Amino acid sequence: MNLRRLGWDAEFKKQFEQLNSDQSCQPARVIYAQRQLYRVVSELGEHQGRVSGRLRYQARFPADFPAAGDWVGIRIDPRQAADTGTVIIHFTLPRKTWLSRSAAGEKVEEQMICANVDRVFLVSGLDRDFNLRRIERYLSAVYQGGAQPVIILNKVDLCRDLETKMLDLGKVVFDLPVICTDALTGEGMNLLNPYLEPGKTVAFVGSSGVGKSTLINRLMGVEVQVTRALRSDGKGRHTTTHRELFQIPGGGMVIDNPGMRELQLWAFEEGLGDTFSEIELLAAQCRFSDCRHGSEPGCAVQQQISAGNLDPKRLCSYLKQKRELEQLSETEDLTSQDRYKLRRQDGRLWEKEVRERFKDKY
Ligand code: GDP
Ligand code: ZN
Repeated sequence: MNLRRLGWDAEFKKQFEQLNSDQSCQPARVIYAQRQLYRVVSELGEHQGRVSGRLRYQARFPADFPAAGDWVGIRIDPRQAADTGTVIIHFTLPRKTWLSRSAAGEKVEEQMICANVDRVFLVSGLDRDFNLRRIERYLSAVYQGGAQPVIILNKVDLCRDLETKMLDLGKVVFDLPVICTDALTGEGMNLLNPYLEPGKTVAFVGSSGVGKSTLINRLMGVEVQVTRALRSDGKGRHTTTHRELFQIPGGGMVIDNPGMRELQLWAFEEGLGDTFSEIELLAAQCRFSDCRHGSEPGCAVQQQISAGNLDPKRLCSYLKQKRELEQLSETEDLTSQDRYKLRRQDGRLWEKEVRERFKDKY
């Protein structure tokens, strides 16, 4: 397997060499990760994997374990018979981007859904499911992980008022790419092609029923296999583990797992700031630095609402997400915060673009 086709690049290589100074490991990408069961693909092919005792010991939070899409360092386990091909995962490379959600257990924790996704197709249905507030919510979650969002409005065949919806959407997603599709006929899906480059990974997120599976199956050209066949030599046990990362026949990869259906907010203020960039810019002009944008005098946000330039529902949505984040931040863990800060230092080009958009507007 050619690692470049899997998304391997100079940056991963550099980080890998640093972590693999004794040169005992080989790079591999995780294509399945559920309940500490892993499948990885290396230059040698596909392997079953498990994490080393040390990695398990060092993991402080669930999000520290490998997720689908992660690049890892593997070693063939000498204690395993050679023909089972089980490998040991010794380390995970820093994630360029990720999708995560909050999972409520004993305490609220961050759960990794997938890692190293370049673009996220945020799918909404143009039927009665269409909901701007929900799109804002998904957007914050995607921005937080650093992937680039692309908006897909599916079920265009069921939409009678596309123009109105597009106008309303524009005030929420600004100049993010928006693509209308009918997944049943494939109409509009050719517009996804520019985002499906070789070596790039995409994911589809959105509520249940919006058409993600239909879109993915059409992209793959076949129903995605969920059960692995017996090995051709008849030795392998039948396993029900399936892939979460697929090669798309036309180029690129797609990550799909059940977590995409329940993407919830696990974000810090910065993710929110990307979604509501115009509100945050306005807020900087309020008379009081701790303005809650209610009835305070000199509130620049309220001024724009009065002038009809800002939808009050959007401010509500912003304040609501902000409150939730404040509650979350009381339970948030340091590692993900550090990871987030680190990534932000890298500087995302498109993020600068987001900020540029409003520079002259207000
Ligand atoms: P998922 O839960 O997001 O994976 O959604 P599915 O792909 O399972 O689709 C949910 C339902 O919507 C199915 O009955 C699909 O046949 C239907 N569906 C998907 N895309 C379209 C579309 O573009 N137009 C119409 N009319 N129905 C669609
Ligand atoms: Zn204000």
